[in-house]
Amino acid sequence: MRATGIMGKRGVRSLTGVSAAHRMVLPILFRKVGPLTTLRQLYDLQEVDLEIDRVNAQVAALNRRIQDEAALLSARQTLAQRREAVQQMRRQQALHTQAVQELREKTKDLERRLYGGSIRSIKEMEALQGEAKGYHEQARTIEDEELLPLMVKLEEEEAWIGVASAALAHMEQERRALVEQLTAEASNLAATLPGLQAKRRGAAAALATAPLSQYERLRGAKQGQAVARVEHGMCAGCRVMLPGREVQQARISKEPVYCPSCGRMLYAG
Ligand SMILES: [Zn+2]
Repeated sequence: MRATGIMGKRGVRSLTGVSAAHRMVLPILFRKVGPLTTLRQLYDLQEVDLEIDRVNAQVAALNRRIQDEAALLSARQTLAQRREAVQQMRRQQALHTQAVQELREKTKDLERRLYGGSIRSIKEMEALQGEAKGYHEQARTIEDEELLPLMVKLEEEEAWIGVASAALAHMEQERRALVEQLTAEASNLAATLPGLQAKRRGAAAALATAPLSQYERLRGAKQGQAVARVEHGMCAGCRVMLPGREVQQARISKEPVYCPSCGRMLYAG
């Protein structure tokens, strides 16, 4: 509400919603019980309201933490992705292994023909030997360039997954404990609300309608603080030094005095 500070008294008053009718009604109501009494009652009511606000904000903050599973979800997702990558590597490994087996079978078939005594010419023998050598080399290439790096990678990935799974299990366990603790804190805090609300009803019931609705309007416009204490000549609501006249007025005036800077009702008690 920094802006109200430069708007002057007239602007502040219109912002706070004090109608002409209220300005006429308030002094009469205030005069009945004494302005300081009414302001003290409003101030006490505000203490209860601020406490209710604090409790509600704390409960909301706890609930946000209870619901915030971002870290856990991210860890679960990473692990699932790495597991899927391992599955993919295993499928590749199976394909390469099968290819190597097929090449070995082909080599064996050629060797059976070579040493089976059915070869009639050297040319035919050399051709079969060349073919067998080719299959053998293909198999070696797949083993050295595909299967071996894949197995090294798989070993690394599985070690990583083992560590990450244990870490995730630990995280989940800690999270369960934390949620249990936060839930207990939130419910303990929430349990204080009915008492505070009863106290609030009592405090509000002791006040006349006009100052109460004036208070409600100001509270809505001033971040929950309608009444500000005067502390060492300063408005405790906006921390601005008050003119001596305002401080004096706040002590003795029969009608509410407003902080010229933030527009809150001043309580000099
Ligand atoms: Zn102020």
